[in-house]
Amino acid sequence: MEERKANALKEILSYAGNYKVLTYIGLTLSGIAMVLGMLPYIYIWLITRDLIAVAPNYHEAVNITKYGWMALFFAIVGIVVYFFALMCTHLAAFRTASNIRKEGMKHLLKVPLGYFDDHASGLIRNRLIAAASDTETLLAHNLADIVGTVAMFIAMIVLLFVYDWRMGLSCILAVVISVVALFSMMGGKNAELLAEYQKAQDNISKAATEYVRGIPVVKVFQQTVYSFKAFKEAIKEYSEKAFYYQGKVCRIPQAINLTFTEGAFVFLVPVALLLAPGELRNQTFMTFITNFAFYAVFSAIISTALAKIMFAASGMMLAENAMARLREVMNAPTLEITSSPRIPKDNSVEFKNVSFTYAGATGKALNNVSFKVNKGETVALVGPSGGGKTTAACLIPRFWDVSEGSVMVGEVDVREMDLHTLMDQVAFVFQNNRLFKTSILENVRAAKPEASREEVLKALSEAQCDDIIAKLADGIDTEIGKDGTYLSGGETQRVSLARAILKDAPIIVLDEATAFADPENEYLIQKALSKLTAGKTVIMIAHRLSTVVNADRIIVLEEGNIVEEGTHQELIKMNGLYARMWQDYNKAVQWKISSESEVSHA
Ligand code: ADP
Ligand code: MG
Repeated sequence: MEERKANALKEILSYAGNYKVLTYIGLTLSGIAMVLGMLPYIYIWLITRDLIAVAPNYHEAVNITKYGWMALFFAIVGIVVYFFALMCTHLAAFRTASNIRKEGMKHLLKVPLGYFDDHASGLIRNRLIAAASDTETLLAHNLADIVGTVAMFIAMIVLLFVYDWRMGLSCILAVVISVVALFSMMGGKNAELLAEYQKAQDNISKAATEYVRGIPVVKVFQQTVYSFKAFKEAIKEYSEKAFYYQGKVCRIPQAINLTFTEGAFVFLVPVALLLAPGELRNQTFMTFITNFAFYAVFSAIISTALAKIMFAASGMMLAENAMARLREVMNAPTLEITSSPRIPKDNSVEFKNVSFTYAGATGKALNNVSFKVNKGETVALVGPSGGGKTTAACLIPRFWDVSEGSVMVGEVDVREMDLHTLMDQVAFVFQNNRLFKTSILENVRAAKPEASREEVLKALSEAQCDDIIAKLADGIDTEIGKDGTYLSGGETQRVSLARAILKDAPIIVLDEATAFADPENEYLIQKALSKLTAGKTVIMIAHRLSTVVNADRIIVLEEGNIVEEGTHQELIKMNGLYARMWQDYNKAVQWKISSESEVSHA
């Protein structure tokens, strides 16, 4: 465990850069401040000693005023030094946290976009930000406290032996017992129990998240909380583990620990009483009494010191978790970026023996798929759900990289291209287009930051968005998501198309662009699509077969394999899967028309 802690610390400091030095300076100062902070106690004890020595002629204690001022002086110096210590650690902590955020973001920029489909982007961002802020607390406060307390502890132990080792030992005995009790809760067989207990704690928060996500389902299906078995189980397990660990394993050691931390004098008093008769016969009895006063004062600091160490240790635990979370972000796979990028020759797209398997999946999503889309051609991907259409589309912009074979754009493997070149070459309109919470203008301009207002307006107009803009209070300057301004799915789709139109890339990849649109929106979307695709190389995925009839070629994908390929007419003649799909599609359309006319008769 210690080693893990040390590693987490090393890992955190690796993000500090040049500010690492500041951390070390801050920690050293913190140690000095703590030792300085003990000096007032010593002066107070010196005052007590002098007063005892001259009692009852107190006016003979000439030094006590000086001691008083010294106590005040060192109390202030201690605070000032501590202030500078914290200033150093804070500066380093802020820089480290900011570096963690920067490094994390830099890494995430290299992660394939497909990764964010499986790992919600908000979650990843939260993880990064939480990790950064947790390390901030550790570096700014906890570490300084740990070092300070350790310094104080060492100084204290030395001091305890300076005056009377027997009384010193009796104070330390109490410390040793409480520390042993503390470690017995966390070591040996109990370490496993502690780990289980902490895991149960983790599980409960995971299950709670799942539960909150599932609330819509609960509402729709009228289920009760108890149907959320996982959550209930997690709570039950946690309560059992917590009761066993806290209530059974820790009860006695914790009681011992607290008793001896708070009552560091339990051995001091009896030891002093035992020693007293012997000392009474000596000349040094007065010294013995004042020494006793010293130990009585100092044993009070012991509990403060131990409590501080415990507190700081929890900061270490937090930091360790933070690093684990950060590692998850930093271990996200990245795309390999070529060092000698090639420029695509033309606007063709070709799949050469492409196979692709999703991480963790057993079967291939694409199996040895080859086809070519020449410059200016429109090729449609169709087939049953799960056939691999979306996967194929995602491989072109490198949302994922192929497992085998290669995807070529302009006769160059996409992996040998600069990402910016590739992005300039290809525009995609996918099902799950999202708009940013900013104005329509900026939303569209995201595709081409240097575009003028007029260009954006033209693109929006071509994407059939005029009616959307007309109904919004501030036109294209209306902020999406503000004051309840939201667009319907079909409207969002059209604004996304405006984005793609503005981008004016020579290759267009469309995934089921009309799948969720209502008839009116679909008509407008189709119009926008024809503007977008005019004269471009197009790869389109569509559920509604009417939209693919005019494609130059249709590729039928089933379970990751190309099963048929040809024009609409050719495929109909083949009388295979496509012909069946076409029949089903027409039946569905007819059924829809007839049922609609029935409704109008009624
Ligand atoms: P289509 O678009 O033709 O419906 P997809 O390309 O979405 O098909 O899916 C092809 C196969 O890959 C399916 O078996 C699907 O379950 C699987 N798949 C899709 N996305 C993922 C993913 N992110 N992780 C794992 N498997 C996936
Ligand atoms: Mg799909």
